[in-house]
Amino acid sequence: MAPATDRTTFTTSNLRAVTLQNKIHTSNCAICQENYNKNHTPVRIVDIAECSHVFGSDCINSYIHALHANSNKCPLCRAVWYNVTRQQALSQSTASRRPTREDRAQEWSARGAEEREHRLQVRELELALMESHLEYGDAWEDFGDDY
Ligand SMILES: [Zn+2]
Ligand SMILES: [Zn+2]
Repeated sequence: MAPATDRTTFTTSNLRAVTLQNKIHTSNCAICQENYNKNHTPVRIVDIAECSHVFGSDCINSYIHALHANSNKCPLCRAVWYNVTRQQALSQSTASRRPTREDRAQEWSARGAEEREHRLQVRELELALMESHLEYGDAWEDFGDDY
C-alpha cells in the first residue's frame, strides 16, 4: 500500500498494537534498544508497502513528533510511512537544526550571485539599447549624407 496521506492518518491507522503474547520478530525496540514490557509496549507498522517493523509505542510516537527531516520514514528500512507536504518538510528541516554560519553564508552568496546576474542582464540590455540607438543614429546620418 502507498504511504499514508499524512502524519495523523498514519498514527491513527497504520500503527497496530502488538500484544506481548504475540510472537514478534524482534524482542527489543530499534529506537531505544530496550526490551518490550508493559510500560514499553510494541506496535507494528501495518498497511505500508515494504515495512512491517515493530517499535515501542511511545518511542515511535516521539520519533514521529520529533519532526526531524526523516521522521516520516522508517529508521530501519527507510520505507516512507506518510507523505509530508513541501511546507511541512521545510519546517521540519528547519526545526531540526538551526541554520549554521555556513548556511547563512551560502544563502548570502546565492543571493549575491542572483543580484550580480540581474545587474549583468540589465547592463547587457542597456548596451543593446545603446547599440540600437547608435545604429539608428548611424542610419539617420547615412540617410542624411545620402540625402
Ligand atoms: Zn523503545
Ligand atoms: Zn521498516
